[in-house]
Amino acid sequence: MSATTQLGPDTGGRFGPYGGRYVPETLMAPLEELEHAFAEASADPAFQHELAALLRDFAGRPTPLQYAARLTERLGGPRIYLKREDLLHTGAHKINNCLGQGLLAVRMGKRRVIAETGAGQHGVATATVAARLGLSCTIYMGTQDMERQRLNVFRMQLLGAEVVGVDAGSRTLKDAINEAMRDWVTHVETTHYLLGSVLGAHPYPLIVREFQRVIGREARQQILAMEGRLPDVLLACVGGGSNAIGLFYEFLNDVTVQMVGVEAGGCGTALGEHAARLAASQGFTGARPGVLQGTYTYVLQNPHGQIATTHSVSAGLDYPAVGPEHAWLAEQGRVEYTAVRDEEAIEAARLLARTEGIIPALEAAHAVAELIQRAPKMRREQVVLLNLSGRGDKDMEILAHSLGR
Ligand SMILES: *Cc1c(COP(=O)(O)O)cnc(C)c1O
Repeated sequence: MSATTQLGPDTGGRFGPYGGRYVPETLMAPLEELEHAFAEASADPAFQHELAALLRDFAGRPTPLQYAARLTERLGGPRIYLKREDLLHTGAHKINNCLGQGLLAVRMGKRRVIAETGAGQHGVATATVAARLGLSCTIYMGTQDMERQRLNVFRMQLLGAEVVGVDAGSRTLKDAINEAMRDWVTHVETTHYLLGSVLGAHPYPLIVREFQRVIGREARQQILAMEGRLPDVLLACVGGGSNAIGLFYEFLNDVTVQMVGVEAGGCGTALGEHAARLAASQGFTGARPGVLQGTYTYVLQNPHGQIATTHSVSAGLDYPAVGPEHAWLAEQGRVEYTAVRDEEAIEAARLLARTEGIIPALEAAHAVAELIQRAPKMRREQVVLLNLSGRGDKDMEILAHSLGR
């Protein structure tokens, strides 16, 4: 671990060699407009005040930091604290970013937001914020995902969003992304593209990180108040990486704080069986630097550079690329990236449910699974802080199925 972690992005939107802006010429001006609007908003106390009020009154911040007494006792290792993002409105941390970008859209005079969604979680959070702010909303979703996630489709429609089914290709997230991009290029004057994680062309990885940093700011104050010192280890799951960087960023210069990002190990190490982009040391294959969705980062791909299909029991971690800032933190050795398998995550969800009375989202259960492996090797006086990114209501069918085994 280096004592001076290099933070980013630079003015070109680069985190070391990663990040940047790989988009068609037509999107350069709108991305610059967004960068400018974000910089202005960040320096405007009125904007910050309005966002803080929405986070408090609408989303339910601050979220508690909970000492997990029974889980601590059960694992017999460090003192465990859970950052309860699962208690937020719509059930996960995604609302933090959606509120921020929604207000930014209003500020830019754009009365329409669009987004793509896989399992529907980001679509629901976006539709929720659009309703609250009086914006019109279109969500792109693969038709196969729509069949698998009917309830989320109804939620978005009930909230007044138009859900557009995408019938191309594999009829999943990748195809929805392409369609949303096409919409944005065509309607860029009136429309804000509300990206859901620390992915995409500059300035999105920066914007989403800044709107998720509230997690780490709160957690830092809370752990200092409760323990009188910083934690030894931070744990978070990594899909695109927004909840993880939201927690980690506030601690990056604290050299005593170790950080672990947990990816989806799926059902095996071969290409197509997992979504582990940075945990190569555990034998997961197929990740190399490349460009996806406008940014240069680690991408799961076949030897010909074709984007690979991925697998995870949790939809939120099932994505072939990872945020460019995570690629940079991995390369600097500042954050360690590991992966746990589907069954380990499901087992972890059951353990957390029984010991703490919390049914976690399967994404967050990946972080819990990593904790279960690490805790017995740690000392009792050590402190672990785990980001519980979301609640498990959406995963009940999968969890119910696993009970039968
Ligand atoms: C979407 C989601 C994730 C993954 O997204 P990140 O950008 O990596 O945070 C993790 N947990 C939950 C509950 C989610 O809904």
